[in-house]
Amino acid sequence: MPLYEAKCPECDTRVEYLRPHARRAETPACLLCQVPTTPCVSAPAYTPSGWGDTKWAGRYDRGLGVTLKDKNHRDRIMQSRGLTEDTKYDQQNRLDKSLSDHGEHERTVRRYENNLREANGDRGLAIANTFPVDP
Ligand SMILES: [Zn+2]
Repeated sequence: MPLYEAKCPECDTRVEYLRPHARRAETPACLLCQVPTTPCVSAPAYTPSGWGDTKWAGRYDRGLGVTLKDKNHRDRIMQSRGLTEDTKYDQQNRLDKSLSDHGEHERTVRRYENNLREANGDRGLAIANTFPVDP
């Protein structure tokens, strides 16, 4: 099914939508303004059954603010602007790190509370025991 692009007459936001060719005039409403969008005249990008380079053709990249020709086009823009891909892998790594940072913090708090009990409420001693200085 071809991928078409339409533009909001109010806010100029571009939207993409999949339609059979015969129904290409049925544009979606703008998500921001809730008004009907007008189809863009550019040639539609055909979404292939297997994702390939055509996936990028004619796609408006909101992050870059550019309608893409192909994957190379996007790579060149990313490179020229010194940008790197924020991949699923990066996002997972950040999530893992923040969870492990959180876990580490929780363990430190528990260690401090234990030390505080053992030090009979002496905070200085509890802190010293919680964060021992390496000899
Ligand atoms: Zn709008």
